[in-house]
Formats: sequence, C-alpha cells, structure tokens
Amino acid sequence: MKILALISLGVACISAALAQGVGYTDTPQIRGQKWKVHDKERPNPPTVTPGASFSNGAPPPSDAIWLFDGRDFSHWTQNGQEPKWALANGYMEVAGKTGDIATKEEFGDAQVHLEFATPSKVEGESQGRGNSGVFFHGQFEVQVLDSHNNQTYADGQAGALYGQWPPLANAIRPPGEWNTYDIVFEAPRFDPAGKLLKPGYVTAFLNGVCVQNRKELNGPTNHRSTDPYKAYSGKGKLSLQDHGNPTRFRNIWLRPLGEQP
Ligand code: MG
Repeated sequence: MKILALISLGVACISAALAQGVGYTDTPQIRGQKWKVHDKERPNPPTVTPGASFSNGAPPPSDAIWLFDGRDFSHWTQNGQEPKWALANGYMEVAGKTGDIATKEEFGDAQVHLEFATPSKVEGESQGRGNSGVFFHGQFEVQVLDSHNNQTYADGQAGALYGQWPPLANAIRPPGEWNTYDIVFEAPRFDPAGKLLKPGYVTAFLNGVCVQNRKELNGPTNHRSTDPYKAYSGKGKLSLQDHGNPTRFRNIWLRPLGEQP
C-alpha cells in the first residue's frame, strides 16, 4: 500500500510539474509590465466558483441596443454578408472557418452584456479549447475560453485582456454551461494629430466575479506580440471571434455610454 501511495504521489508531482508553465519564453515583454506576452512563468489566477446566477437572462434596459435576442442576425455582418454562423434555440454558434462576425453599427464607450457557453464536448487543450473572444473596435479582445480544468497561459484565460492582463480569478463555468459577461469598455482617445490622450480601459465581470478592475489596455491585443496604439476615431464595432471552436452566444445587448456633465 505504501509503495502504491508513493507511486501515486510521484505521478501527482510529475503531473503538477507538467501542468505548470504552459506558455512562451520567446515573446516580447509587455510594455509597462514585468511579464512577457503569454509568459509561461506568469502565475495563473485562483479558481473561484461563481454563484448560482448573476445576470443570466438579464433583460436589456430601456436604452440598450439588443444586438442579439436569439432570433436573427439583423444587427450583425460577416465580411459584409449575412453571418454563416449557426442559429438555433435562441443562441448563435461559431461555425468555424467562416470568420468573425461584427455588428453593423459602431460604438464608442459601452456597457455590454452577453452570455456564452463553451462546447459541452471537450476537445483540444490550452488555447484550442472553446476559444472565442469579444472584440471591441476590432482590436481589443476580452478572451472567451474553456478555462475549466484547462492549463493555459495566464493572459489567455477566460476573462483575460488577451496577451496583456490575466483575469483576477478563474470564474468559468464547466463546459456546456452558460456564462455571463458584463463588460464596460472605455475607448482610447487621440488628439487630432494622432497622439494618445487616454488609453482604453476594461472592467469586466465573468459570472458576477470581477475579473478586470478598470485595467488599462496598453495597445491592441495580439498573439505573441505587444503593439502600440494606432490613432483612430475611438468608435468601432463589437465583434465575436471565430477561433474554430463551436462556442455559443446568446442575449447580447449594449448600452452606449456618455459622460456625466
Ligand atoms: Mg480568443
């Protein structure tokens, strides 16, 4: 029995050692941080089990634009055409290899609610499992991933500002279950000469757990690189990523945000 226990302890230690350090060592340092992009040494966030319900099924406030009520793609486009993603039972599903979909309208600062479910059939690992994303202005990704018992780099977990900021907690629900995202996006501002006046910021709740506390975006989010801001209008579309995994979305609404007088 003792030998068996020792062997299982050994196996457990080896698996723990293997499980650590998914990520990269050859990527550039993130500007303003001590970590590299997708740093394999960056600690993963603690796991938090969310409460039973937060904003699941939240009806849109009166001034919200109901971008997706489960019935049609009337607010969405995919390369200028009707999206080819699947539509059934009140949700849309990434079709794979068809590309991202984006809203027809553009927005500046915004509050966004949406719900997503990663595939109930678990396939792939790390960034290949239930990967999608919520993109603001085609440049800033709040990551969607099946982070449930899935080792990956910290800044690529669900709730991450991809390649920049890991979530404060891993609050993902198990595969196939619906998650809620409630996100406040503040767009960057530029002066007429293109100089950055104010960076973008993201505040995000995943299943009612604060995963980003007004974190500063240090430029567009990207894979394996850290890129400077490029001046633009501060307005853009909301888009959802096709990363090849059949992730589902439902109940998407957005409130454009103004500023207090
Ligand atoms: Mg993604």
